[in-house]
Amino acid sequence: MEVQFHGAAGEVTGSCHLVSVAGKNVLLDCGMVQGDHEADARNAADFPFDPKAIDVLVLSHAHIDHTGRVPLLVKRGFAGPIYTHSATMDLAAILLADCAHIAAMDTRDANRNLAPGQKPLQPLYTQADVDATVKRMQPLAYDQAHEILPGVHVTLRDAGHILGSATVELAADEQADQTRSTRRLVFSGDLGPNGTPILCDPQPVPAADLVIMESTYGDRTHKTREDTLNELAAIFRAAHRDGGNVVIPAFAVGRTQELLYFFAEHFDEWGLGSYRMFLDSPMATKVTAAYDRHEDLFDPEAKQFWARRPHPLQMPNLKFTSSTDDSRAINSIRGGAIIIAGSGMCEGGRIRHHLRHNLANPAAHVVFVGYQAQGTLGRRIVQGAKHVHLFGDDIPVHAQIHTVGGLSAHADRDGLSDWYGAIAGRPPVCLVHGEDPGRGTLAQALQQKWGCAVTLPMPGVRVTV
Ligand SMILES: [Zn+2]
Repeated sequence: MEVQFHGAAGEVTGSCHLVSVAGKNVLLDCGMVQGDHEADARNAADFPFDPKAIDVLVLSHAHIDHTGRVPLLVKRGFAGPIYTHSATMDLAAILLADCAHIAAMDTRDANRNLAPGQKPLQPLYTQADVDATVKRMQPLAYDQAHEILPGVHVTLRDAGHILGSATVELAADEQADQTRSTRRLVFSGDLGPNGTPILCDPQPVPAADLVIMESTYGDRTHKTREDTLNELAAIFRAAHRDGGNVVIPAFAVGRTQELLYFFAEHFDEWGLGSYRMFLDSPMATKVTAAYDRHEDLFDPEAKQFWARRPHPLQMPNLKFTSSTDDSRAINSIRGGAIIIAGSGMCEGGRIRHHLRHNLANPAAHVVFVGYQAQGTLGRRIVQGAKHVHLFGDDIPVHAQIHTVGGLSAHADRDGLSDWYGAIAGRPPVCLVHGEDPGRGTLAQALQQKWGCAVTLPMPGVRVTV
């Protein structure tokens, strides 16, 4: 068994790893690059392998940086099955449809300004490609070995990152020098932190011969949940005093549901009854409904929460806005509103309109609750930009900017180290899905604590299991 790294090698997005096993090709994830100024060109570029030569695709979870190029892979000739958790199927259908919609809108806008004789642009893929992709998906449950190729089994385990997220174990029976042995490759996908609301903690993996592990927050330790909740309470107190709006860029999957869960739990304590609350993201609304459908995957605390009242994430003063008219109506509210909208890194979506209408207001509070990749608008604001460019206007940043780090959907350095440490035999580990030098810091920590061999692969590098 051999793995070649084709994405998220030295960066945080574009997860894609090719495993050669038993004479076949298994692709782990096929994600989009996000944030990079060359992202569009990189996402449209040829794959570094022949899509027709891929036999099986396994998806760790539904996030676009892990699934966003799958419809393109199908469009370009991949004809095999796609194995993933049933909840990931549910979420990926929603997220990929959104990608196709954005691609259609972007192409339509770009084609409006074509020079005479210039060829019209084509979208990266369409809803028809997404439909063809979803048809190829086969649902798996956690903890059950499934034979995906002769002698090759895949086992998904709960990664606690978003609904349906999984670590992927590929086990292959190999014959060498008269002896048969099983080689195990374990891919962490994205790992959640322990104690996250709604979801279970990442499940330990018993054994591996090689581990591919994410390292998004490999150089950080998160605040405790208690500190994070205190921080949110303080922000709402300050917002109440200042009278402006609270604008929260949030990923539609996971973070939004987590926030709503905290809002429902601390509704009175945080004085949320005095606000008008908006979830201004049709996609997040669909995803919230998908969470409701997969209650069986929740942790015991969330199961109790759901048992006490159905649809606990729906609060009396929370409006799920779907139409653009409803969204636009929020723009005239100058204070007393909490607006959650995507995208989480402010690269697209309705949040950009809300930032345009609130960033210049010193009474407004903008609360970042997720990772902001290099090159994104979110990152520039978090890093203290005094002005940002939105819809052709130069907007001064006078609003109060907060970063609430403890809500991360990713395990921190200690969480990653503990997850690795539970694997028997200290197998060699390849760190992916992290920017340098952060993943180097994690590499040192792992070497010191566990004495394991650590590789920081760059794109194209091959490692034998
Ligand atoms: Zn993810």
